[in-house]
Amino acid sequence: MIDINLLKSEAEKIGVELNSTALENFDKLAEMLVDWNSRINLTAITEPTEIVYKHFADSLTALAAVDVPQGASFIDVGTGGGFPGLPILVARPDLKGVLLDSTQKKLMYVDYCLNKLNLNDSGRTLHMRAEEAGIKVQLRNRFDFSFSRAVANLRELSEYCLPLTKVGGTFVALKGTKAQEEIAEAKEAIKILGGEIQEVKQFFLGDMGVRYLVIIKKVSPTPPKYPRASAKIAKEPLGIVKK
Ligand code: SAM
Repeated sequence: MIDINLLKSEAEKIGVELNSTALENFDKLAEMLVDWNSRINLTAITEPTEIVYKHFADSLTALAAVDVPQGASFIDVGTGGGFPGLPILVARPDLKGVLLDSTQKKLMYVDYCLNKLNLNDSGRTLHMRAEEAGIKVQLRNRFDFSFSRAVANLRELSEYCLPLTKVGGTFVALKGTKAQEEIAEAKEAIKILGGEIQEVKQFFLGDMGVRYLVIIKKVSPTPPKYPRASAKIAKEPLGIVKK
């Protein structure tokens, strides 16, 4: 369904090698996405070339931005139709991924894909809100990496992702053109939550535009009062001093 040579070369350009099994699995994944999307709303992107750039190559920038050791654990916060989590697992089945979302329907699809792609030992879904996951002992401070795309602004997203990330681990936010503004607004919150911005990496996806990956190291434990309930996260922006 997709042009696998295009995917292979675009992945190479950003620094990710895909073997023949991965390429076959990406093709199957594109088919499943388009098929399920006719029944449940997963994505507005269904044209094969756009799937290659805007879903697959875009998700793979997460693996290109950081050095992810063999067998490392990650959580994809707000995975929706499985992005970036499913492409990460297709490219790196050695990793252990939790694909979390608050919408059960989308996770049924993600589960189906994990099954069909024989990735049940690598990934599992979790139906939960991120701010609830962040206060559970078995999930808090557990993951080597947290990844997230198109879920919330960086300040709110940091309160979702940093509590789940291990001290010494890394939170990678996949962002578009507003990345620098979001960073400026999120700086103080990131510090409060135990994070430190390490680097912002830029990737060009053909002529489909530029992407920014904000790489945040977890340098100290997140204080126990975070994450707060979702209404508070939205209404009382962290790190903004009230006048
Ligand atoms: N990450 C996917 C992508 O890039 O295609 C999905 C993006 S979609 C716009 C946002 C997803 O985040 C939705 O599936 C929504 O259910 C999920 N979401 C938003 N807030 C969340 C929260 N607090 N906890 C868990 N999931 C959340």
